[in-house]
Amino acid sequence: MDTIYFDNAATSFPKAPGVGSAMAELLEHGAFNVGRGGYEGAYLLSARVLDTRERLARLLGVPEDGSVCFTAGVTAALNQFLKGTLHPGDHVIVSSMEHNAVMRPLRTLERGGVAVSTAPCNADGTLDPQRVRDLFRPNTRAVVCTHASNVCGTLLPVEEIGRLCRERQLRFAVDAAQTAGIFPIDMAKMHIDFLAFPGHKGLRGPQGVGGFAVSAALAAEMLPLIEGGTGSRSDSELQPEFLPDRFESGTLPLPAIIGLRQALTELEKTGTEPLLARERQLTEQFLRGLAELPGCRVAGIADPGRMEERLGVVSVDFSPADNAMAAFLLEQRAGIMTRVGLHCAPAAHKTLGTFPQGTVRFSFGPENTPEEVRQCLGCLHDILKKEI
Ligand code: PLP
Repeated sequence: MDTIYFDNAATSFPKAPGVGSAMAELLEHGAFNVGRGGYEGAYLLSARVLDTRERLARLLGVPEDGSVCFTAGVTAALNQFLKGTLHPGDHVIVSSMEHNAVMRPLRTLERGGVAVSTAPCNADGTLDPQRVRDLFRPNTRAVVCTHASNVCGTLLPVEEIGRLCRERQLRFAVDAAQTAGIFPIDMAKMHIDFLAFPGHKGLRGPQGVGGFAVSAALAAEMLPLIEGGTGSRSDSELQPEFLPDRFESGTLPLPAIIGLRQALTELEKTGTEPLLARERQLTEQFLRGLAELPGCRVAGIADPGRMEERLGVVSVDFSPADNAMAAFLLEQRAGIMTRVGLHCAPAAHKTLGTFPQGTVRFSFGPENTPEEVRQCLGCLHDILKKEI
């Protein structure tokens, strides 16, 4: 049986053309270290890492004085921002659609004296920026917001929130796990101080690398969570102050960075626009088809006429039928891979009214086709009629 991969919100698959071979080439013919060895192969690799950084900076609209730092992924990046920036007595505002990559570190910080407020989103995941403004206090230090929900694909108004933060001189951090490589991002224009991005989702690179882009002003006040060897200033036992070394101790995930560089080469050929258009076309087709099926409720924006407010992540609640059984049968009958449950985002599910039962999440990528969506709707039709 052929398979249909509808779990691109977890990680993109297939990866961009050439990612695997670029990584294999490195591993087999020159997996040196950078900033350590004084020989030509190491210098060459170092130039490629710099090139990857610069391409990411262009793609994400990183301000002139900002920098891109690599981490293992979005979770590591968000921990760096939250634990390196917030101190006892500070107040931070988040949206009610955040992933546990934000909420779990924050719950820990809360125990240490950081106050956390949640701006309530509407039942479709949208957020009125006024809800954020209502929560400002004299000790508010930062706002953290996801760019698009990993549960239902709703986009949040980051540009408007960024403007509010700039007026109050607050730090603004955005979780771009679901948007980097898919939706246009301009960090400078959106007044974002810290942007966490994964290499392995919309950018279509390998797992193992992601990072953050950070403004110079925030970088100077954010304490590094990890310190150690950087290959620079080895005469000193103090962590370098300059970027990216301040936040990049230890050996980088070089094969993953080289894979990501190849993915960026592919993305630069088309830009994000056609990929987003395709994702939205499949989403619209899927939503129209779901509207005709009894027994399924779309969590978030269900209206196919509101495509510009969302991405191609669609959550469906089949309850009182069993969501897990629906996901299981989709794979058994038609090889369709989805993700069922709470998607590491209990707050988002509470906002959407799908807690604790969760949803079956369908998330589209650039290589999915209208025919696959048609097959999925057909399979759902049969399952809903006879089996759950
Ligand atoms: N934030 C959101 C919105 C996500 O969707 C994810 C991953 O699914 C993460 C954070 C964590 O990303 P990673 O697992 O790459 O660290």
